[in-house]
Amino acid sequence: MRLVLIGPPGAGKGTQAKRLSQSFSVPHLSTGDLLREAVSKKTPLGKKAEPYISKGELVPDNIVLDIVEEKIRGSESGFILDGFPRNIEQARELDLCLERDGRKLDAVINIDIKEDTVVERLKNRLVCPKCGAILSVKDVSSTWICPRCKAKLKKRADDTEETIKNRIKVYMDYTLPLLDYYRKKGILIDIIGEGSPDEVFDRIVKSL
Ligand code: AMP
Repeated sequence: MRLVLIGPPGAGKGTQAKRLSQSFSVPHLSTGDLLREAVSKKTPLGKKAEPYISKGELVPDNIVLDIVEEKIRGSESGFILDGFPRNIEQARELDLCLERDGRKLDAVINIDIKEDTVVERLKNRLVCPKCGAILSVKDVSSTWICPRCKAKLKKRADDTEETIKNRIKVYMDYTLPLLDYYRKKGILIDIIGEGSPDEVFDRIVKSL
C-alpha cells in the first residue's frame, strides 16, 4: 500500500496515518516527525531545518527529499506518507522516485476540514514525547499526563498563534495546488475531516 495523506495542519493526518499504519501493517512516514527528531538531536540537518520549522515555513525541498527518498526506497511493503509532498515540486520528485522502481501511488487522501476547526485543534494540541500520541488539552487532566504511557505531554513548539496562521497560509499557497495535481491523475479521495478520529478513520477505510 502506497498512500499519501494531505490536509492542512491540524487536519488529523498524523493521527490517521498512525491508525492506518497499525491496521494495514505499513510504515508511517512523517516528514514533520523526522525533521523534529533531527532538530532535537541537533544534527546538521536539524540545524538547517529548525529556523524554517519555527516560523512555519517549508524546509527547502533538497533537505526533505533526501530523507524521504532514502526511507521510501527501503520500504518494500509501501508507506503512508504524512506531511509529504507539500508542494508540486516534491510531488513530481516523489513520482520520479517511485517510477525508477516501477512503482506508483495507490491513493492520495485529502482530509477536508474547516479553518476554524484546525485553529481550535492546533491551539489545544498536546503530543506525547514518549509514545507519540496526539491529544487535546480538552481530553486530558490539567496535569497533562499521557493516558497511554504516563509521560508528561507537551505542546509542539510551532503550535503558537502566529506560527499556526503562517502554516495555514503556507498550506493554501503551496500544498492546496496538489489536490488538482492528484485529481487529474485520478487517485485523489476526498474525506470529511470533521468529527472524531474514529469517524474519520471509518470514512478513510471505507473509501479505500
Ligand atoms: P508537520 O509535522 O507535518 O506539521 O510539519 C512541521 C513542519 O516541518 C512544517 O511546518 C515544515 O516547516 C516542516 N515540514 C514537514 N514536512 C515538510 C515537507 N514535506 N516539506 C517542507 N517542510 C516540511
